[in-house]
Amino acid sequence: MFSQLSQVVVVGGGLAGLSTARYLSILLPSLSIIIVEKQPKLGGNSQKASSGINSVNTVHQETCSIFDSPSAFFNDTILSGRGYCQQKLVETLVEQSTDAFHWIEAETQLDLSKIVQCGGHSQPRTHSPVNAKGNIGYELISRISAKLNSAQNVKVLYNTRCTNIEIENDKVKGIEIESADFNGSIPAQAVILATGGYAFNVKDILGERVQESTQLSKVHKLYERIGKQMPTTNGCTSTGDALSWASNINAKILDLEHVQVHPTGFVDPNDTTNPIKILAPEALRAAGGILISPLTGKRFVDELTTRDKVTEAIVDQVESLEYPYVYLVLTKDMVEKYGMKSIGFYEFKKLIQRLDFKTAVLALHSEPGYLKDLGFDGDLWVAKVTPAIHYTMGGIAINEKAQVLSNNGGVITGLYAAGEVSAGVHGGNRLAGNSLLECVVFGRLAAQNVASENLFDASELRQGNCRVSS
Ligand SMILES: Cc1cc2nc3c(=O)[nH]c(=O)nc-3n(C[C@H](O)[C@H](O)[C@H](O)COP(=O)(O)OP(=O)(O)OC[C@H]3O[C@@H](n4cnc5c(N)ncnc54)[C@H](O)[C@@H]3O)c2cc1C
Repeated sequence: MFSQLSQVVVVGGGLAGLSTARYLSILLPSLSIIIVEKQPKLGGNSQKASSGINSVNTVHQETCSIFDSPSAFFNDTILSGRGYCQQKLVETLVEQSTDAFHWIEAETQLDLSKIVQCGGHSQPRTHSPVNAKGNIGYELISRISAKLNSAQNVKVLYNTRCTNIEIENDKVKGIEIESADFNGSIPAQAVILATGGYAFNVKDILGERVQESTQLSKVHKLYERIGKQMPTTNGCTSTGDALSWASNINAKILDLEHVQVHPTGFVDPNDTTNPIKILAPEALRAAGGILISPLTGKRFVDELTTRDKVTEAIVDQVESLEYPYVYLVLTKDMVEKYGMKSIGFYEFKKLIQRLDFKTAVLALHSEPGYLKDLGFDGDLWVAKVTPAIHYTMGGIAINEKAQVLSNNGGVITGLYAAGEVSAGVHGGNRLAGNSLLECVVFGRLAAQNVASENLFDASELRQGNCRVSS
């Protein structure tokens, strides 16, 4: 079914996979590129991203007179990583950020000039679209997909699950796949792993090591007690499939216990125990939203302290509940500050309810005077929220060329990894906005190195006879 000629397989159709495929299709227009995606559509978790993509020295920072620097960005990332970042990978992320940012902006024809300063950053450097219909993740994915769909040398295999990597003498040979109409191998001179993280499957991936992450171990114990799956803001695709293939071929795996928990995922009152939660963004608390314990009717934490501290405080509050949640509460001013349009979406989804003051006081088990003293009066917007696994920092070890490292100290020729499947960039804790950047930077590096590594028969490429046969 598949050609034996020079071809490259990209496994996973999120931002990392699509950036790799697009850049490679530009560098080697006659190479056949196959994207293997287990879902019926492209996008993965990338399409959910809503805060933005980081970069320094962008034209937009210059226009806004933001005096950022690569060293400040580097230091912020290293500090956030709590001593676990691979310094060379962070250097690469930072050094390549400007080119990668301008490339993705031009490729997608988005105007990414809205810039904010997210938690843990010393300067505003998280860029997002202005005048776009969707959030940044959706816009990036739909626009690159459109380009790939019209490329002659790229084919996407939907509903096709990669099940293993084939190697011989530390050199990649191809992958094994399963789909409704084909089970077998796709030969390839290079394979790029871009299968995302394992947030949906943390318990199976970590086993006993779940206890090694302090944040996670508390959340884990809580959910063990109630016999439910730990919630996540990720989709069900984030199952860490590539980790077992990587183990089979002696690739190096790092930092699996480093898992980021977001304190606030919405609890859908009509589907409370569904493990997949829609993210209740930090911006809701930044707009002034407070957290109220359903057991005391009172605040219990500084809502703007770090994510791990807010998570811990929530877990401590709700240990005795049948399903853990606290209330997130906003006034009309706060809702307007955050954006009525976005709140309208959450209201439509029945994740936030607008209540008159009297009803809100009863629902929150609070006191009118207590809320008024906090400045909460009039109609209130009330949501139930719970901590949810948000990002997995661990994964497959790579070098600055995005090549997969082997446990024996070398590289596996022709095998690359980019995006959340890889480890080392974020260390113990990821900074907001760094993941989309990582996808583009390391996706492009994987493409560049595939193109420059002499993996193909030059005459085949010159003749342009590399085609996907199906
Ligand atoms: C709600 C939310 C908001 C976020 N906001 C931001 C943000 O604003 N900024 C930021 O930088 N980061 C953000 N992140 C993190 C960021 O979106 C992700 O880490 C990043 O997009 C991951 O991209 P990826 O390409 O590595 O993986 P994904 O986008 O998850 O793509 C992986 C793809 O691989 C496919 N796949 C997996 N296994 C297989 C297999 N065996 N065979 C075939 N295909 C397979 C999956 O189906 C999926 O399509 C957010 C995450 C979430 C959940």
